[in-house]
Amino acid sequence: MRKKLIAANWKMYKTPSEALNFVEAFLPLVAGHTRDEIALFPSITSLPTVIHRVRGSNVAAGAQSMHWADEGAYTGHTSATMLTAVGATHVLIGHSENRQYDNETDERINLKVKSALSHGLIPLLCVGEQKDERQCGKTEDVLVSQLAGALAGFPKEHADRLVIAYEPVWAIGTGLTATPETAEETHLMIRTHLEKHLGDVANEMRILYGGSVKPDNASALLNQPNIDGALVGGASLKPDSFAAIVKY
Ligand code: PEP
Repeated sequence: MRKKLIAANWKMYKTPSEALNFVEAFLPLVAGHTRDEIALFPSITSLPTVIHRVRGSNVAAGAQSMHWADEGAYTGHTSATMLTAVGATHVLIGHSENRQYDNETDERINLKVKSALSHGLIPLLCVGEQKDERQCGKTEDVLVSQLAGALAGFPKEHADRLVIAYEPVWAIGTGLTATPETAEETHLMIRTHLEKHLGDVANEMRILYGGSVKPDNASALLNQPNIDGALVGGASLKPDSFAAIVKY
């Protein structure tokens, strides 16, 4: 059985004290919740504060992005070595906002996934199609190409630690959600592709859905057989809303 992972992407929201207030309110709401894994992805300035406060709880914390190099002249960036040094366990890679605004190419994503895995981090590799790509029937081509680019030369022995987050770009922050049936169909297609390239381990890999997940649609999505969790943006910013999703 794949244990579901419910993840909060806070994007560029919350100062350290706001992040701490969230965690203080959130931990009691999910205390004793062991059915699913829970992870918070604060901004880099709040990450050490959140890591310190969730230590010993059922909640993990990770970064929203990372560089592929261990160190170097890369102003403004953070490496996997630095993330693990402060106790981060997870990292988002290839979020569509980074693909759109930060020149996050498949080649860079590929280097980052490999670096994250080699440092023991759990990468959440984000993939997803644009609205026009879905409308003209190109969803499968787009996802297969993103996966092929991101996973070229991928060390298969680490495959069970890799998490895929399927996030249709047209559903992120828009209030539009893929129907549970459409999401399930796409997740199954992704798993079939992973199986073809990585073998049976694809059945152990978690494929999360992201795109306007809210307390009122979480249950229908998360009860689909190939949806192994959720990556939640807007609805993860308030403790009660994110806790309701965790307890879908
Ligand atoms: C996201 O940022 O990954 C996301 C899915 O955002 P939202 O839930 O707001 O659509």
